[in-house]
Amino acid sequence: MSEKSTERAAATERVMTAEKSVTASTEKPQKPRTRMPVVFAGHGSPMLALDDTEVTRGLRAVGQRIEDEFGKPRAILAVSAHWYTRGSFVQSTAAPEQIYDMYGFPKALYDFEYPVAGSPELGERVTRLLGDRVRVNDDWGIDHGTWTVLAHVFPQADVPVVQLSVDGTRTTRELYEIGRALAPLRDEGYLVFGSGNVVHNLGRVDWSNAGGSAATNEFNALVTEKVLARDDAAILDYASLPNAAYAAPTPEHFLPLIYMLGAADGERPEVFNDHSELAAISMTGYVFGL
Ligand code: ZN
Repeated sequence: MSEKSTERAAATERVMTAEKSVTASTEKPQKPRTRMPVVFAGHGSPMLALDDTEVTRGLRAVGQRIEDEFGKPRAILAVSAHWYTRGSFVQSTAAPEQIYDMYGFPKALYDFEYPVAGSPELGERVTRLLGDRVRVNDDWGIDHGTWTVLAHVFPQADVPVVQLSVDGTRTTRELYEIGRALAPLRDEGYLVFGSGNVVHNLGRVDWSNAGGSAATNEFNALVTEKVLARDDAAILDYASLPNAAYAAPTPEHFLPLIYMLGAADGERPEVFNDHSELAAISMTGYVFGL
């Protein structure tokens, strides 16, 4: 290539790049592609890890889009319903153990491996951001609330994971504030990820129902409406919503959503996996900032 044509090629490229960024900024005005999204995923039965369904394909699609638009996250901060504690704890180990914290499932599920690394660096960042609101604790591991879902989102298990426990002693407002304090992680390449369920009532599971009961569908639709409208006050007061006693008889599966709303400062989400199963479990997922 002559010097002139090289110059011309470079100029064309500059114009194209400029056009591209104009298009991008017209479509998505306040979403710089360097700010990692926030995800809330429904997890349901642990058998999810071995499934190939509409739900698992929805999870994979979100992971792929994150990878395509932002690159692989540096690490994931996962808030799982299954690490429900008195006080807030964060992991710091470079080599967390995958734990099989569920009973009575086929052997294939206990043979399933999701061998992710941890991230002492992320654990340290969380400790700095939350100060005396959190303590380091490596007694737990990567639990099934996390690995059954991430196995689909990032199937290569090549993104390190750190879990933050769900603190059962705090108000929803305090959990929301913890989520807000974690938001800067998103600008550092970390994915903030919650795994729970909008509707989770094991006592009302009905194996003959492949969808949701009326109460499940109503509660799920109402919560989704409030989340889409970013009526966070209504979600913080979820226990007062109609059918709440049915949908969230215990809080641990609902609360990861509260952390995610805090971390997703004002962003309106996209709904993925708007599906319920076994009458009383909703697999609904929200992704913010994608
Ligand atoms: Zn669960």
